[in-house]
Amino acid sequence: MKITFLGTGTSHGIPVIACGCPVCRSDNPKNKRLRTSVLIELGGKNILIDTPPDFREQMLRYGVKRIDAILYTHHHADHIFGLDDVRRFNEIQCGAIPCYAAKESLAVLKNIFSYTFNPPQIGGGVPQILLKEIPGEPFEVCGQKVEPVGICHGKITITGFRIGGFAYVTDCSRIPDASMRKLYNLKVLVLGVLRHEKHSTHFSVGEGVEAAKELGAERTFFTHMCQPLPHPKEGLRLS
Ligand SMILES: [Zn+2]
Ligand SMILES: [Zn+2]
Repeated sequence: MKITFLGTGTSHGIPVIACGCPVCRSDNPKNKRLRTSVLIELGGKNILIDTPPDFREQMLRYGVKRIDAILYTHHHADHIFGLDDVRRFNEIQCGAIPCYAAKESLAVLKNIFSYTFNPPQIGGGVPQILLKEIPGEPFEVCGQKVEPVGICHGKITITGFRIGGFAYVTDCSRIPDASMRKLYNLKVLVLGVLRHEKHSTHFSVGEGVEAAKELGAERTFFTHMCQPLPHPKEGLRLS
């Protein structure tokens, strides 16, 4: 399995428009953070998690040649608004791309991208996607077992994903006990933290460190960080 971090920034992206803070003005390329998304290469297939507004730039920057399936964590703008540019992969692959999302997120996708579905069109400049509802149990994507993990994001529940020893949990303010149990014995955990201060819909760094310690993955990577968080020269030590 190869994981590519296509973006690790919060909803504004870093640098933030018209912001003069040291991180936004930093020369460190790691502080140029596109909106949050990862690409999973596994078994000869490319599985993408979320299509943020930076989708097109991410595909160009990382030279992605095909997308076999898309998993959606939830329907907030910073996670879905790049979907229209999936069109190019429809052309290359001569077909629609399956997109998996929870029931509530499917309804929002159908509404926001209604031109794709209503009236249904094929080709002609609209993305071709096959919407599929994520069930409440493990399901198969591109021949791989994907376990959905319910995550609290403020008042809504969003979807984290576990594939083998890898799990992706962004936009998280609390991980319910039943979901914690699905996230032990990981090689790699990707966990969303926003900033040092508390926030109503995202983990702070301290809360993320506590969750990471409890889950004990071999490696934990933070994502979805806003601009007061510079990339340290070395990773944070949890002990
Ligand atoms: Zn969100
Ligand atoms: Zn977000």
